[in-house]
Amino acid sequence: MQTVQQTDYDAFSSKLACLSKGYLPPNEQSLITPIKGFVSIYQGYKDLHLQYFQALKGEFGGRRLASKINRSIQNSQPVMNYGTYLRTLSIDIPLLSYINEIAPSEQCQIVNLGCGSDLRCSQFVDKGEFPQVMKYIDLDFKQSIEFKQSVLQKLPQGPSNDIYEAVSCDLNNIDETMSVLTKLLKADIPTVFITECALCYMPQEESQILIDSIRKTFNTGVWLSYDPIGGDEPNDRFGKIMKDNLLMSRNLDLPTLLIFNSKDTYSNRWSQYEQVTIQNMWDFLQSTISPIEQKRLQSVQFLDEIEELRIMQSHYVTMKAQWQ
Ligand code: SAM
Repeated sequence: MQTVQQTDYDAFSSKLACLSKGYLPPNEQSLITPIKGFVSIYQGYKDLHLQYFQALKGEFGGRRLASKINRSIQNSQPVMNYGTYLRTLSIDIPLLSYINEIAPSEQCQIVNLGCGSDLRCSQFVDKGEFPQVMKYIDLDFKQSIEFKQSVLQKLPQGPSNDIYEAVSCDLNNIDETMSVLTKLLKADIPTVFITECALCYMPQEESQILIDSIRKTFNTGVWLSYDPIGGDEPNDRFGKIMKDNLLMSRNLDLPTLLIFNSKDTYSNRWSQYEQVTIQNMWDFLQSTISPIEQKRLQSVQFLDEIEELRIMQSHYVTMKAQWQ
């Protein structure tokens, strides 16, 4: 398995850590500006993830993976859990808002590029609460998709209907990716593209061609992206340290971390889209999460490293680019 695929297990264990400690799910008081359907997308959320974790243990190599995941849950630090909470909401909120804007009689499609073990498919398809969602595609490398499909099959309420499809593809192979997307989706229906910690693993040129090709092919849509940024202040060493550490400890490269190092450089890649907004995650926290919820989060595990949290979250961004 490629090193980059293994990053998914970090993402999944972080999510489980957040759930087991009680950061996630959020509640009806979590947001400064409430959104219709917000609480209901998290109904059964913890059970869903625990069931997936249980089912994963039955897969080849699953037991070893489960003990790695268990170890990282036990060692999870408050700043990391806070970050995972924010990361999750930074995609869920604009996704839900976009779906809410589409009339129930109209349709939309959702694609999660580099989906890993993310279970949004179940939140947005299985409950049948969003008749607008006519197609939900999860896309990742072949091995990751085969693993995910076989785990999902074991879940009592896994995504089984014909709206959901998991497809394997290397995003760096743009011709293959575009041919998969155009085969499975309708270009004239509003489409949401999600890249949550996925573009950061792609080379600069390929990620730009992917963005441009999707924009050219799909008439209407929105792109939601979450990634780290290296930082652009002269004395900011966050990105360099992160990049060097990952290379040294895991032989994992983040090829564009120091190139798309600020909100501007990151979001300029979508500049041909009509509306682009980007926030770092510290600003997202302050502008979106209610004071009551911030208090709750701080009490879940004692958090006194507020400055560390601020620095870390200033190096992650949530971007929304919408066209037509
Ligand atoms: N998006 C998921 C989440 O946030 O929970 C998973 C994030 S994980 C850090 C990165 C995922 O992107 C992995 O599942 C990895 O296999 C996938 N990925 C990275 N580069 C890819 C590529 N070139 N083609 C397909 N998938 C890719």
